[in-house]
Amino acid sequence: MTPEDLKLLVRTIPDFPKPGILFRDVTTLMGHGEGFAAAVALMADKVAASGAEAVAGIEARGFIFGAAIAARLGLAFIPVRKPGKLPVPVLAIDYALEYGTDTLEVDPGAVGEGRRVVLIDDLLATGGTALAALELLRRAGGTVSHALFLVDLPDLGGAERLQGAGIAVEALLDYP
Ligand code: 5GP
Repeated sequence: MTPEDLKLLVRTIPDFPKPGILFRDVTTLMGHGEGFAAAVALMADKVAASGAEAVAGIEARGFIFGAAIAARLGLAFIPVRKPGKLPVPVLAIDYALEYGTDTLEVDPGAVGEGRRVVLIDDLLATGGTALAALELLRRAGGTVSHALFLVDLPDLGGAERLQGAGIAVEALLDYP
């Protein structure tokens, strides 16, 4: 399946989670076995080409793609978690949302000094979430030079923000 085929499997929901937002729902792609396998295979090829030694996924949908990619390549998977979930002392970062703030946490021991880590999430919008995860992984000692997404919404500027932080950004699908 090509990226164009995969795009047809993503469902678009207007006014979710708030009026005026066009939500790209990737659960319909996950619910299509062949489509999910193709998306994971195409993303795994890009991770392999990046030379990464570990895959970090952002909770929750970044876990689904990131873990599948890591297992396919025999790489370690690092969960970047929502607050209060990890049973060990964590590194944490707060980041701004449109309204309020959110927090991500990582087990510093899961990252490893100097390990080459690729960052994975399902979707890149403004880039705020991925930038926070990037900063956290770097503080934990990771060398992060690539981020990979299933979907990019380029009009929201996330790729530029991440590139400004010194990493290469790729996505399989975009919705200009
Ligand atoms: P950002 O921080 O780049 O503005 O937003 C990206 C984060 O919000 C990602 O973790 C992503 O899962 C979630 N997100 C924002 N908009 C959408 C959307 O339209 N579809 C999906 N599946 N996730 C979204």
